Amino acid sequence: MLFSLFLMACSKSTENDQKKQTILTSFYPVWFMTSQIVDSIDDISVELMINGSGGCPHNLSLTPREMQKLYDADVIVSHGLGIDAFLDHAVEIAKAEIGDVPRIVLSDGISDSIKSVIAGESNWQADHDDHEHEHVQSFDGLNPHCWVSPKRAAEEVRHLTVELASIFPEHTAILLKNGNSTASRLDSLAIKFSDLAESLPNQKIVTVHDAYIWLSHDTGLDIVATLETEGGSEPSPRELNELIETILTEQPIGIFIQQEPAPDLAMMVSERTKTPIFVLDPVSYGTPDPEYYFEVMEKNYLTLKLAAIKGK
Ligand SMILES: [Zn+2]
Repeated sequence: MLFSLFLMACSKSTENDQKKQTILTSFYPVWFMTSQIVDSIDDISVELMINGSGGCPHNLSLTPREMQKLYDADVIVSHGLGIDAFLDHAVEIAKAEIGDVPRIVLSDGISDSIKSVIAGESNWQADHDDHEHEHVQSFDGLNPHCWVSPKRAAEEVRHLTVELASIFPEHTAILLKNGNSTASRLDSLAIKFSDLAESLPNQKIVTVHDAYIWLSHDTGLDIVATLETEGGSEPSPRELNELIETILTEQPIGIFIQQEPAPDLAMMVSERTKTPIFVLDPVSYGTPDPEYYFEVMEKNYLTLKLAAIKGK
């Protein structure tokens, strides 16, 4: 009796494993978009590769446990533009075992023409291999924080929807329905942000991390200075003096940090320039809740509104 129960349990779980498809996503924004699109499809599960919190996964290395998730993936979704290069490296390492797993890159949904514009506006310096300079139309060194702008997040969702529908044609109707509704919500959010930015008497802001170039381009917010260079390195004393001069001249509405507590550098610059500090969360990580992105973005919206009232 016990034996047959055991057998039944075994065969049941094997059957479930065979039916259920797993989409592995690299980090929170990718998980959020994928989860929204496959919502209510019972035989697809969405996994998040990294459990880390505390910021963007630039230069992250995977733990063996995180790496293990790769072997259960039926589809792999990453953001691209180097921010989740840890996944590319992992796929490279596991290539022989995982075979040709379908891969989707969200930033492929953003046109090369706008990428070129952003490349021209941004002085983002990502670490990249020397050989990559040989590729002319390569955006490997482009500022990768596209999802921080709801307008670009919508484009990424549309791209992801089409790609998922081609991998799971049996679910096309529901994927399109979910994908369109998520993209529309993001479009509405994008309009809200640009309407707000347009209405601000002073659109100038200072940020700590260079994560807002896409948002500022799409809304009209004007980033007059960024405190840290990528990789978290602090300015030299001379650069710091220039920064303070710039802030005193430009009179931005605030210094926007990613999360509390404020870094010492931001505190010091805030004191020396009498510029208030606010939190503008780029949603690089979050709680396992597909609504979290929207909640944080609403908070960011209210913060900008408040900063405009309080700011100079
Ligand atoms: Zn970042």
